[in-house]
Amino acid sequence: MTICLAAMPWQSLDCPSLPIGLLKAVTVATGRPEPLTYHGGIRWAEYLLDATDGELGPPEYTEVAEEGLFHGLGDWVFAGVLHDDDSFGVTQLRRYADERGLDIDRVTRMRAHAADFVEVAAREILATEPTLIGFTTTFMQNAPSLATARRIKELDPRVPIVFGGGNCDGAMGSALHENFPFVDYVVRGEGEIAFPALLDALDGRTDLAAVPGLSWRDAQGRHDNRQGTLVPPALMPVPDYDDWFLLIAESPVGEYVEPKLVLESARGCWWGEKHHCTFCGLNGTGMQFRAKAPETVIAELTSLVRRHQTLDAIMVDNIIDNRYFRDLLPSVAALDWDLRIHYEVKSNLRPDEIAVLRQAGVTHVQPGIESLVSPVLKLMDKGVTGVRNVRTLRDCEAAALTVSWNWLYGFPTESTTDYDAVLRQLPALVHLQPPASAARILLERFSPYFENPLLGFPNRQPAKLYEHVYALGQDRLTDMVYLFDTDPAGLSDADAEGLHKLIEVWIDAYPSSSLQILRADDEEIVIEDRRVGWPDQDHRITGAGFVAAYRELENGRTAKALAARVAEWGLTADQVVDWLGKLAGDGLVFTEQGHWITLATPTEPLKVS
Ligand code: SF4
Repeated sequence: MTICLAAMPWQSLDCPSLPIGLLKAVTVATGRPEPLTYHGGIRWAEYLLDATDGELGPPEYTEVAEEGLFHGLGDWVFAGVLHDDDSFGVTQLRRYADERGLDIDRVTRMRAHAADFVEVAAREILATEPTLIGFTTTFMQNAPSLATARRIKELDPRVPIVFGGGNCDGAMGSALHENFPFVDYVVRGEGEIAFPALLDALDGRTDLAAVPGLSWRDAQGRHDNRQGTLVPPALMPVPDYDDWFLLIAESPVGEYVEPKLVLESARGCWWGEKHHCTFCGLNGTGMQFRAKAPETVIAELTSLVRRHQTLDAIMVDNIIDNRYFRDLLPSVAALDWDLRIHYEVKSNLRPDEIAVLRQAGVTHVQPGIESLVSPVLKLMDKGVTGVRNVRTLRDCEAAALTVSWNWLYGFPTESTTDYDAVLRQLPALVHLQPPASAARILLERFSPYFENPLLGFPNRQPAKLYEHVYALGQDRLTDMVYLFDTDPAGLSDADAEGLHKLIEVWIDAYPSSSLQILRADDEEIVIEDRRVGWPDQDHRITGAGFVAAYRELENGRTAKALAARVAEWGLTADQVVDWLGKLAGDGLVFTEQGHWITLATPTEPLKVS
């Protein structure tokens, strides 16, 4: 059997496809020949470069890949080819873009080349003479993958086509199989067990009915096998990226990217197992947390770094295993390599954990901060407060640890009153890393809000973006898509305007803002204030009692708890309250729901644009 595995646009150009790397490895482990691979994202970027004399290329590809998801822009580029209709979705996207002030010039120019590219891709894949073609599809890979699969079937109907990946999890995979008859098989759920089982069935060793999570057809019609049990860590192989690194080294796209490794040390979410964040559908049907043994992770990391001479690594885990702070990261630090690792973490990081991350070469974290408003964080079931999140932002800033986060709003029962006190204080936070944006939550499949309409989103329909991607009625779309439109909850758009404006100011001010402790001893702390929007000045905390109080406040305290802790210095509760008010007036503290936290960083900030 000659297998060709394809990852179509909009796979990131700077890293290989993890699903393809994993499926290659599990296929080889069955004793079969190594699958061939088709890195359609790189080929599309090359094609654009060539066809437009460099006017469109990797930078434009990356903009669509990173910014187009919540508007379906990448899918739309290929939607005309998918439906064999040049005009499909054009009017719908124009209307959609007008309503939202979206610039669609770039994707419109790309779309003019989509049909020719799909023709090339289909023929290049068939030129490998495959006896099975697999497409992995996540986020905006559906339309380009389906368009290419459709054309392959026209050119050679004999070659079976299988789809898998995040877009095929649960009901979405069954619906995709039903809606697109040229897709012969869909593997729903994780692939390490199901894909080799499919190969066995296609080899005649077992029955298709025995393949976990497989959607398939026979003379009786369509069948959806039950999804199997989740893959245990011991069966998650080391991904094979050899061909991708060879390809990117030779491709003109290579000049535009810094290749990165993609690893996973765990699947699922230990927090979500107990407190599923109400808006989050990220884990699909695989919430159960499964972490690899620390020695396995370090062996994979070192072997891939050595093999590909690449020190940048993205860990795709949805949340880091807390054991790793003790059992993995110190071993990574001991390598003493100049690694640059990206990890997703829980937002209540302690300073000692941040230090361990930095020592191990973790330079970028995604802590799921989501908001600084405690009542809203409670609605999310995030298990943190606004003050705790501000502390994480402060401590990551101090440790030169890049933080990516978004501000989410639109939660049922949230009100402007919840936000007022926090929004008034945002100008004091401009020296800390801002959110990339503020956005109303969309209803995600698999999330508690999706699963339980009583939580506040009783009315839902497939998100409007799918109208310019699929020529399917709502009844056929409902089971296939991930995002849903609902009646807006929580803040109105007008209410959210203030939040958006404050965040724009924050983003602009951050690169040239700092608030840092210049000097500190037992009698005085000097804080240099160079925040945009605040007068340049040095604040002095003087006297042993107030210095001790400031140190206590760095951990976050209520006024009452703080007063109790500094009573030995002779400070009364009233004096503490007055002093907190003065700090608040100077923007040196953040306070919410009776808790207070200091804002100055203890070190000179390192701002990276
Ligand atoms: S938002 Fe993060 S912490 Fe919450 S359930 Fe999803 S993956 Fe887990």
